[in-house]
Amino acid sequence: VYFGDEQVAPAEKTARVGRVFSSVASRYDLMNDLMSGGLHRLWKDRFVGKVNPRKGEAILDMAGGTGDIAFRMARRGADVTVADINPDMLEVGRERAGKRGLDGLRWRVENAETLNLEDNSFDAYTIAFGIRNVTDIPAALREAHRVLKPGGRLYVLEFSTSEWPGFGNAYDLYAENVIPKVGEAVTGDGDSYQYLVESIRRFPRMAEFERMIGEAGFERTGHEPILGGLVAMHWGWKI
Ligand code: SAM
Repeated sequence: VYFGDEQVAPAEKTARVGRVFSSVASRYDLMNDLMSGGLHRLWKDRFVGKVNPRKGEAILDMAGGTGDIAFRMARRGADVTVADINPDMLEVGRERAGKRGLDGLRWRVENAETLNLEDNSFDAYTIAFGIRNVTDIPAALREAHRVLKPGGRLYVLEFSTSEWPGFGNAYDLYAENVIPKVGEAVTGDGDSYQYLVESIRRFPRMAEFERMIGEAGFERTGHEPILGGLVAMHWGWKI
């Protein structure tokens, strides 16, 4: 598997991704605003609108990090479990939830590839800007399918590749030249942001990722590009 451009053993990738997020956890939210010019907030609003969480639904927000998606769903009355492999990210999330008076969330340390959760237990599974960091993506998608109830839905938000002419190239230049420098200035860790940029470049195209969702057992799969596919929403249903 790859960590950035370097080929490493799977366990090594998982360990390095762990270090990336432990290193940036305390400045993660500020960096998202800086890197996207605040746009990530709009993408997340749109994503949660698409998931359409209803009151009382049991939703697993995987790779939930500092809680951005979970908070939006909890405010709509869903019963949200935030799971992430990194306890440092979850700790920042817990603090933020406290400040916002959101106390009904459950927080769990979980690896998306091997969930310690029962079969058929969630109405929806969300993962935002998380799946590209997972070492074995097909395993994570199979686990998502397993823990969803029949009739349950999977929604993925992830960076992809813009199919707008010229836009993808302009973004690549911005990502390669600006993001690691801003990351270095704000978190003192430019290498972690270098990894994040390269992991975006390696992520499969929209049609290919939709096919992977189907291979994990999901039906009625689909995707919707944002900014031509710079970011994309993907989904599938467990029938
Ligand atoms: N969903 C949040 C958001 O949209 O702001 C956080 C996204 S953050 C870019 C990616 C998260 O994926 C990190 O918190 C990281 O710890 C988590 N992650 C990486 N590999 C994982 C894995 N195998 N299982 C669960 N979480 C993982």
